[in-house]
Amino acid sequence: MKTAKKSPMDEYLKKHPFLVETANLQLAMEKILTGAVSPVSFPEKDDIKKIVKDGMPLLQQPQLQRTMVKVAAVSLGDCLEALKDIEAPDMMKAALKNWQSWTAEAELTEIQQFFDYLLRQEDAEIQQFAADNKLNEVLVRTLGWQLVEVLVPAGLKDPVFWQGIGWKRNYCPICGRQPVLAQLRKEQEGRARVLACDGCHTVWPYARIGCVYCGNDDLKEMHILEPEGEAAMRLDVCDKCHAYLKTYNEEGEEEVYLRDWATIHLDFLGEEKSLQKKGSVMLANA
Ligand SMILES: [Zn+2]
Ligand SMILES: [Zn+2]
Repeated sequence: MKTAKKSPMDEYLKKHPFLVETANLQLAMEKILTGAVSPVSFPEKDDIKKIVKDGMPLLQQPQLQRTMVKVAAVSLGDCLEALKDIEAPDMMKAALKNWQSWTAEAELTEIQQFFDYLLRQEDAEIQQFAADNKLNEVLVRTLGWQLVEVLVPAGLKDPVFWQGIGWKRNYCPICGRQPVLAQLRKEQEGRARVLACDGCHTVWPYARIGCVYCGNDDLKEMHILEPEGEAAMRLDVCDKCHAYLKTYNEEGEEEVYLRDWATIHLDFLGEEKSLQKKGSVMLANA
């Protein structure tokens, strides 16, 4: 009997059963949100090149930011409705229900205000907003970003696109967040590094060497931690700013290794050494 070829994620989850519950929830959410909304239209490549040439990410440009905020705000109700029957732990279900009730009652301008804070990464305001409206702060931040993510066209998340544009900065060319993960890829000569955003999940090229967070490029002040039993990934540690970056150093399983939640157990190694994690949508001021 023929069996369907398992996806890298299925294979991975077989080896990491403790991630199954998170994976089911995350993947179901992605699927539901993708079905509930369509991407916003973005400018053409040549225009994007001009727009970002001084280093301002697309969603930090006033006009695009306004468009994204408007579309995200009007889509939120539909998304929460679509997520109503999702299989999730009780606490999560309650938090989702709570947010849905808030959204049903809120003025559109209030919902827009939330997405304004989110896109500008105004964490203190998001915290206050969640407290004032008795909403789960981590949920509004993570789901808010997941919605933004599906509103960004897939073609714009590809490192080849940003290679063509010439974007080589240490923050996301779409939303401006710091990277949460990296990957080393084979090039004709040696290897090249790309960075991945945890907000909109764009991947873009960056210098091969050095700390992506503080710019330290002295190799004597950087070291590598290798988690046991996970040869595909390592932690690049900066001795100057004490941050680490999970780095996938193989190819072909990006759908697993470029997702922060799927490699969350590897963060323990960083935590154990009191190192700082950055770029995650779950963390404020990341
Ligand atoms: Zn981004
Ligand atoms: Zn650093």
